Amino acid sequence: MDNLASSSSCELALKTGFEKKIFVNRSLTLENIKCYGFDMDYTLVAYKSPDYESMGFELLRDRMVSVGYPHEILRYTYDPSFPTRGLVVDTKYGNLLKVDSNGNVLVCTHGFRFLRGEDIQNYYPNKFIQRDDTERFYILNTLFNLSETYIYACLVDFFTRCNRYTNLLKGFQHGDLFMSYRSMFQDVRDAMDFIHDSGILKEQTIKNLEKYVVRDPNIPVLLTRMKKVAKVFLATNSDYNYTEAIMRYLFESNVKPGTPKLPWRSYFDLVVVDTRKPLFFGDGTVLRQVDTNTGKLRIGTYTGDLQHGTVYSGGSSDTVCDLLGVKGKDILYVGDHIFGDILKSKKRQGWKTFLVVPELTKELQVWEEKQNLFEELKRLDVFLAELYKMDMSYGQMGSLLRSGSTQTLFASQLIRYADLYSSSCINLLHYPFNYLFMAPPVLVSQLLHSCTRKTLLKSLFKKKKRKNGKMIGEITLLYKTHCFLCWILVVMATNCYKTCCNWNKNKKIHG
Ligand SMILES: [Mg+2]
Repeated sequence: MDNLASSSSCELALKTGFEKKIFVNRSLTLENIKCYGFDMDYTLVAYKSPDYESMGFELLRDRMVSVGYPHEILRYTYDPSFPTRGLVVDTKYGNLLKVDSNGNVLVCTHGFRFLRGEDIQNYYPNKFIQRDDTERFYILNTLFNLSETYIYACLVDFFTRCNRYTNLLKGFQHGDLFMSYRSMFQDVRDAMDFIHDSGILKEQTIKNLEKYVVRDPNIPVLLTRMKKVAKVFLATNSDYNYTEAIMRYLFESNVKPGTPKLPWRSYFDLVVVDTRKPLFFGDGTVLRQVDTNTGKLRIGTYTGDLQHGTVYSGGSSDTVCDLLGVKGKDILYVGDHIFGDILKSKKRQGWKTFLVVPELTKELQVWEEKQNLFEELKRLDVFLAELYKMDMSYGQMGSLLRSGSTQTLFASQLIRYADLYSSSCINLLHYPFNYLFMAPPVLVSQLLHSCTRKTLLKSLFKKKKRKNGKMIGEITLLYKTHCFLCWILVVMATNCYKTCCNWNKNKKIHG
């Protein structure tokens, strides 16, 4: 990458709107990344929302009817403004909950009825749940879960309103038949597995790629640039045939004018399908070669060296490192699943992580539009009702990341496990591959509360120069002041800690 191109990319990154930015939880230098890994669904492949979720919902709804649920539920259509990722299903009482990282209930619905105050406390006396009770509480973490969330709300809504059924605390009675909220949720889960495992969802997608898949011509551009500076691999849970159809559509049918048309596999050093994440980040499964002519797997475990252009099935993250000759810390893995992609690769393998959060585009748009209101409301708590209105701009469940000023469970997981996150992996195009993503020191936002982020960024890097391909930000007086204050606080904290230790030691001796 030449200096001029890097420079213009960097300028672009700093000038572009919020939606194209990459956010930092922990500092990361792209220059040290020797390998980029990608998930496919909702990462390299962006599905068109709400058409894709709507199609998933209709398949689920039809499946529920075919296994015996009343035909009346066919009247429901998908409403994208209702579900948010990260909601928790209480399978005991049939409620959908938005909670914070400690399990405090922020929002609660029964069907489509939003419960308030006393109603919530009737179910949850402390407005608190034990999230660890995974038998009872199920977290809907993925974008595929959105249609599942909505069909469950439809079922609870239907049975609550239909006078053929008697409402009980843990379900519905119809003659001598009792249907618990738990069994209804299990039926939804089974229907979800059916539309995935039977291949019907994939079939519908491939039949109408234009309608359901975003074809971004920047994807081949991003991967071409990446391959010049690092190794690139694909690790997807999807099977070979689906991967082949989607990737051909993305890479081979949408080439920018003047760019050579290359087979999609040539953009990767390694392609692994059927990865069965999160198992992939632990023991994994048998690594097999895929016959790309027939899509069938070759028998036996593959034990040879990496063969370019070959597609593998199964394996584990250790296999990927061995085949590519890289260590976990050299890898930046890009995925959309907070548990299967990000948490597991970070906790089990120490990979660097980049979380794709497509909802950020809308989150940031609302944030920008309502920023003044939000700032004002932070100062004037009496107008908290207005804050509620702002939350409603995201959808009926409010923001993915916050409820008022409280962080959601999804947001806390994002901060804990994703080093970087953005609305799309394409946004990496706007940064040079030697870029240092620097995490904002927490003290800055507290000490310099009155500074907006933009002002802070401008003031920290007032003048930018490029020298020998690397960006140099001139460190301003403000940054120096911040470092000095940080240093003083660290010294104070250390002294305080030492004093406490001594005090405890003395206490023990004298006690
Ligand atoms: Mg995915």
